[in-house]
Amino acid sequence: MPETRLVAFDLDDTLAPSKSPMDPRMSQILADLLDVVPVCIISGGQFAQFKMQAIDNLPKAGSAHLERLHLMPTCGTQYFRFENDAWEQVYAENLTEDEKSRALAAVEARAKELGFWESDTWGPILEDRGSQITFSALGQAAPVAAKQAWDPTGEKKNTLREAVAADIPDLEVRSGGSTSVDITRKGIDKAYGMKKLAELTGIPLDDMLFVGDRLDENGNDYPVKALGVRCEAVDGWEDTARFIEALIPQLRAAA
Ligand SMILES: [Mg+2]
Repeated sequence: MPETRLVAFDLDDTLAPSKSPMDPRMSQILADLLDVVPVCIISGGQFAQFKMQAIDNLPKAGSAHLERLHLMPTCGTQYFRFENDAWEQVYAENLTEDEKSRALAAVEARAKELGFWESDTWGPILEDRGSQITFSALGQAAPVAAKQAWDPTGEKKNTLREAVAADIPDLEVRSGGSTSVDITRKGIDKAYGMKKLAELTGIPLDDMLFVGDRLDENGNDYPVKALGVRCEAVDGWEDTARFIEALIPQLRAAA
């Protein structure tokens, strides 16, 4: 068996339930793993999401654990490390001003033209997340029930996605959550992030292990598997917890 010098995890439905904090049991297991090996968390979400779901729930073990964490929000277009007692953004590959303004203009014009530009919303419809422009039909803070009612079949979102994609073919336009469309650079997925991680840490991909819940061909973890990284497919955080509990003694024995 090859050496495992770093374990990387997807976040939603791998370490924590979707958009929710980690269970205390998973937090403890993750802390135990950090005693043995550095850990990366890589997800399409923002840093604030990483903090709320994972980091803020780690047992208070001082900075030693945190310094062994590699955080890659938005699929590795951003990279955070814990240095001098604080989380530092090491870099962010933001969209250029030109890319942002074309993305914002295209999505607003098409949404208005299609009749999808709502006047009663929960917060702003458009959000500049640096490396990503996000359209949320009902605003960022819309309640789940309202979001589900807006586009139950996903037809509006897909129609908008296609129209915007045709306007800005040099950028990636993806369906996001239930009412959202995300615009990023092309070619940004978790495989991109894992390659960046290998560059940044000097740990070859062959010495990494990736754990994710969507390693099936249509899943957002699949690009990591296609890249040739050793992968463990899990079905929810409890499954991840069992796997890591068994892995820790193996890693200790190897070390
Ligand atoms: Mg997932």
